[in-house]
Amino acid sequence: MIKKVPQSAHQLIDQFGRTVDYIRLSITDRCDFRCVYCMAEEMTFLPRHEVLSLEECARLVKIFVSLGVSKVRITGGEPLVRKNALWLFEEIGKLKNLNELVLTTNGSQLEYQANNLRNAGVKRINISLDSLDAKRFKKITRTGNLDKVLRGIDAAKNVGFENIKLNTVLMRGVNDDEALTLVKFAIDQSIDISFIEEMPLGEISHDRESTFFSNQETLKLLQNEYPLIASAETTGGPARYWRVANTSTKIGFISPHSHNFCEHCNRVRITCKGELFLCLGQEDKIDLMPLLRDNPHHDQPVIEAILASMAIKPKGHDFDLHRAKPAVIRFMSHTGG
Ligand code: SAM
Ligand code: SF4
Repeated sequence: MIKKVPQSAHQLIDQFGRTVDYIRLSITDRCDFRCVYCMAEEMTFLPRHEVLSLEECARLVKIFVSLGVSKVRITGGEPLVRKNALWLFEEIGKLKNLNELVLTTNGSQLEYQANNLRNAGVKRINISLDSLDAKRFKKITRTGNLDKVLRGIDAAKNVGFENIKLNTVLMRGVNDDEALTLVKFAIDQSIDISFIEEMPLGEISHDRESTFFSNQETLKLLQNEYPLIASAETTGGPARYWRVANTSTKIGFISPHSHNFCEHCNRVRITCKGELFLCLGQEDKIDLMPLLRDNPHHDQPVIEAILASMAIKPKGHDFDLHRAKPAVIRFMSHTGG
C-alpha cells in the first residue's frame, strides 16, 4: 500500500522520506558516438516533435527549482550536439535558487564550447573516456576520435571548471587492462576519475555478462599500484570515493549492482521526451510533455504531477546480469546517464 506523502511547497519528499533535490535532464537522444555498451550500431532516434524543445526544457527546470531542486545535470545522448544547447545552459545558469549546474559529455565538442559553458555557469563537468589508445577508442565508440576528446579535456582544464571528472566503463577483454593507465592520466592532469559498472540498459550487440568487470576487481588492481584512502564523501548517488595519497585525484566507483545506495537516493531523471523516471533501473514514470504542451501558460498541472510522482518513486532498482533480457529496455542514451 502506498503511504500518503507529506509535501511542502518547496520540497519533493518521497514515500520513504527521501528528499529529491537533484534532477538529471537528457536534452537529446542523439549522439555523435555509438559506444558499444550504450547503443546498438543502428539506432533509430526520435522525431523532433517528440523531443522537448529547449524552451520546454528551461520551463521544466525552472519548475523543479521552484520545488526545491538545487542541482541540475544536463546529459543525453550527447547534450552538446543539440543545436543551441548553449542557450539552455545560459537560461538555467540564471536561476537564483540553483546551486549547481553540471554536465555530462563525451567531450567531442568541448574544444569549441568549454569557454561558453563555463561562462553560462556550468560548475563541474564529467567527460566520458574509456581508452587512451586511439584505435581502441574508435572501436569502443565506433565513431569517436580520441585526439578531439583529449583536446576537449585540455580546453575544459584551461577554462577553470571547479571540477573535471572522467567517467570510464571498464569491460572485460575490451579495456580492463587500461584501469591503471587511465588513473595515471587523471593524476597527471590533476582531475578525478570514476569507474562505472556496465548496466543492463537496452539491447546491444555484446553479451553484457561476459564483459562485466566489477568495481571490486578494479579497486584491487588500483590498490596494488597506488596508496588509496577511503573517503566519506557522497553525492547521494551510487558512487563511493577514494583519494589517491599525495595527489589531488579522487577515484569514484559507481556500482549500480550493489543496492546499498538506494536508501539515500536524492535524484530523478527526465528524458528528452519529458518522461519523469523516478529510478534509473525501474519503469515507474510520468509523462510531463502532454502536461507542458496542454498548459503552455499554467505551471500548476505540471507542479501537481511532479508532487504526485513522489508517491511512486521505487525503493530501489534491481539489476541482474544473469537475466536473458535487459533489466530495462530503454537505452542509457534515452534516459540520460
Ligand atoms: N554522451 C554523454 C557521455 O557519454 O558522457 C552523456 C550521456 S551518457 C549516456 C552518460 C554516461 O553513461 C557515460 O559516462 C556513459 O559511459 C554511461 N553509460 C552509457 N551506457 C551505459 C551502460 N549501459 N552502463 C553503464 N554506463 C553507461
Ligand atoms: Fe553517446 Fe554517451 Fe552513449 Fe557514448 S555513452 S553513445 S557518447 S550517449
